[in-house]
Amino acid sequence: MDFDVIIVGAGPAGLACARELAGSAFSVLLLDKASVLGSKPCGGGICEKEVAVPCEAAWVKKFAKQIISLGQSSVTINHRYKRITFEREDLASYQERLLQDAKKITLLKNVLVTEILPGSIATDQGRYHYNDLVGADGSASIVRAYLQLPNKLAWGMYYRIWGTHDEVVAYYDPRTMGPGYIWEFPHATYNNIGIYFEPCFLEANKAKAILQKYLRKRNYPFDEKDFLAAPINYNYMGHQFGNIYLIGDAGGFACRMHGGGISNAVISGTEIAKLIQDARYTAKPLKDMIHSKQSCDRLVEYFAMIPLWLTKGFILMIMQLYRMPFFQKILPL
Ligand SMILES: Cc1cc2nc3c(=O)[nH]c(=O)nc-3n(C[C@H](O)[C@H](O)[C@H](O)COP(=O)(O)OP(=O)(O)OC[C@H]3O[C@@H](n4cnc5c(N)ncnc54)[C@H](O)[C@@H]3O)c2cc1C
Repeated sequence: MDFDVIIVGAGPAGLACARELAGSAFSVLLLDKASVLGSKPCGGGICEKEVAVPCEAAWVKKFAKQIISLGQSSVTINHRYKRITFEREDLASYQERLLQDAKKITLLKNVLVTEILPGSIATDQGRYHYNDLVGADGSASIVRAYLQLPNKLAWGMYYRIWGTHDEVVAYYDPRTMGPGYIWEFPHATYNNIGIYFEPCFLEANKAKAILQKYLRKRNYPFDEKDFLAAPINYNYMGHQFGNIYLIGDAGGFACRMHGGGISNAVISGTEIAKLIQDARYTAKPLKDMIHSKQSCDRLVEYFAMIPLWLTKGFILMIMQLYRMPFFQKILPL
């Protein structure tokens, strides 16, 4: 019941952290309340630029083309960095397989962490002791709550539209959605179509109505049984608090601009594992990622301040710039 490191949550962040610790001398306990890892609401879409996320040809789909729409105008972009979609369960089982020979990692599923204490955690199956604790338990993190750090939440909600689809779409309408957007991410057997929004710009019931209107306009039949929604915490306030660390959504590492967080979860998980092993580690990739996330987050603030007509012009300009390979490389899209 005593471990050098306990990681609460086996999402992409927790699994990446355990993977990095696997070669070390530390005994590690990785806990998750779920019986099937990866079964959380998600668009399951990343960009090829996000190289930290492990992907295997067998379980991903790649798309070079994407339609970007702004109200009536739309452009088709041929991406230098393709869009990738996958099932979160496939990513989780891939990450889990990487741990199977790690003798010092204990992975327990179906274990709910109920309380954090200095030096130990309580679960529905007993108490465990730690030297270092890593909070990798997502946007409603119990570890973050123990540290009394507030969340700032955006939301993603989506429908699964069954059938085969092959158009990746991003749809903007600042008049109705503010800085949010609608995505279409085709998966193997369904299209994941959702809306990303922040409650300070758009109420949840209005966001859902906008999403449904979009689906009707695009002639997609939808059903409430295929509807899912979950929060995304983007409030980064630090990652080390004595012997307690926060990674992934628990640490507020998701991008406020587009809600993507899988890549930053993997990067933060890997980097914190290195820090735990060596307190002098410089963590440059982590610092670079935080810098770029915070610059992106600030864009949302600027976006909210500019008048609507200028916002539209701004998005149109980005759409045009994005046709050029140089801007595809540097823009955080
Ligand atoms: C609707 C939606 C769509 C999204 N689409 C995308 C996308 O297309 N691309 C992208 O990059 N990002 C997307 N995101 C964001 C992405 O899902 C998160 O950033 C990512 O999952 C964060 O990974 P994580 O490991 O930090 O947390 P999570 O994936 O949330 O994993 C946390 C784990 O902790 C476990 N856990 C939680 N509490 C406890 C507890 N008390 N005891 C034990 N276990 C616990 C959970 O079961 C879970 O397995 C989306 C988010 C939402 C909500």
